[in-house]
Amino acid sequence: MTTYPDTLLFIDGVWRPASGGRTIPVVNPATAQPIGSVAWADRADLDAALAAADRSFPAWSATSSYDRAKLMRRAADLLRERVDEIAVMMTMEQGKPVSQSRVETLAGADIIEWFAGEAQRAYGQVIPSRAPDVLQITLKKPVGPVAAFTPWNFPINQVVRKLSAAIAAGCTIIVKAPEETPASPAALIRAFADAGIPAGVINLVYGVPAEISEYLIPHPVIRKISFTGSTPVGKQLAALAGAHMKRATMELGGHAPIIVAEDADLDLAVDLMVANKFRNAGQVCVSPTRFLVQERIADAFTERFTAGAKAIRVGNGLDAGVDMGPLANDRRIPALESLISDAVEQGAQLKTGGRRFGNEGWFFEPTVLADVPLSARIMSEEPFGPVAVVNRFGDLGEAITEANRLPYGLAAYAFTQSSATATRLGNEIEAGMLSINHLGLALPEVHFGGLKDSGHGTEGGSEALQAYLDTRLVTRKG
Ligand code: NAD
Repeated sequence: MTTYPDTLLFIDGVWRPASGGRTIPVVNPATAQPIGSVAWADRADLDAALAAADRSFPAWSATSSYDRAKLMRRAADLLRERVDEIAVMMTMEQGKPVSQSRVETLAGADIIEWFAGEAQRAYGQVIPSRAPDVLQITLKKPVGPVAAFTPWNFPINQVVRKLSAAIAAGCTIIVKAPEETPASPAALIRAFADAGIPAGVINLVYGVPAEISEYLIPHPVIRKISFTGSTPVGKQLAALAGAHMKRATMELGGHAPIIVAEDADLDLAVDLMVANKFRNAGQVCVSPTRFLVQERIADAFTERFTAGAKAIRVGNGLDAGVDMGPLANDRRIPALESLISDAVEQGAQLKTGGRRFGNEGWFFEPTVLADVPLSARIMSEEPFGPVAVVNRFGDLGEAITEANRLPYGLAAYAFTQSSATATRLGNEIEAGMLSINHLGLALPEVHFGGLKDSGHGTEGGSEALQAYLDTRLVTRKG
């Protein structure tokens, strides 16, 4: 049986309590009971982390990408070896079923390995010159110490993308990980510590998010910011980064449309989308939210999708056979209730769900709303929970207009057997990622990022490494 650990800060290669001795309680969302605590960093801890990230940068950036990769692969192996224990801790603090916590942990190991390899291919260019005796080249150099801010929905995955890209590129990093789910990101960083990462290269802090970001982002030691979270907070942090001329990657909210054309394979669309919608209780930035189904198949789709939602087994993620755990924090419950009641008041049909349930913990019913008017708040605000909206459309142009209506542009999905429809959607849907007839997002090797209010930059694919590298031109005559 895994016992849930208290989480310490990791600064300059040492696990230690906050210098002021303060802690924040950690609560199990399946029981609403406290299960442990996390150290609450104050200014002295942040200064120590900044000094460590600064001091260790020259040596780490000068370490060859081969040696960095070897160490990263050792960390990936340790993460895999420890998956059973880490997955249980993640479920205790975050709520998702253990099977999903395992997948997240193992995917983390894959991401570490992928970035380790990618850093060995951080090529500059040789640029043809106008004169025979001039050589023009670009060099790729790590940007410097990074500050990363990550949320509670994927406690390992959100950290591992930023951390792996940063240290593979030769940067050092301070991670401000989520206070709600601190133990599993700490276990990720312990794998790097046990693999031999030099002191100061990775630092881990927790505390009051706004206090930490307001101190770290403007600090002269920090050269690059990466944030995952909501659009309003992302805009604040991007503005702060801009005011101090810091590079920033922003992975923010979404409101993913799913276009189901009348020629779609309906079984495939329903099976994949029920599993995808209720994964991690819908607390996923790329969660499918606005289903747009062509008129001829709309009733059949709604009926089958609703049956699928009703069949989802909700319970404590530690119990066998559970498909969906509780919401990760209690503030999402009134937020969801208010979005659903607003939609119903405006004429939406509540096909199933709509309420919190159980006597303990933060469980919420898988919910399907149909024929929701555009004026309902849920048509524009990200539910970030187990709620799907199913609406209908006539022709494809109408669906594309609706898909592109919102300022968000993160993920989109489509189901069609027509290559002409697929091609048109690929060209016209304003989303950073479009997955057609399967679930193909979030692999380490593919682009992962949004457009418009969903942010900028990518956390996957070969471009992700570039965010941690400066380009320098060297031009030489003779
Ligand atoms: P929130 O906006 O309060 O917090 C989201 C995340 O940002 C949290 O991890 C929080 O610690 C962090 N944060 C908040 N203010 C910060 C600041 N000033 N500096 C640094 N970090 C800060 O929202 P919430 O109630 O925790 O989550 C709900 C909303 O957040 C959702 O509707 C969703 O849009 C967004 N969210 C997005 C993702 C994602 O994967 N893109 C993940 C979690 C939450």
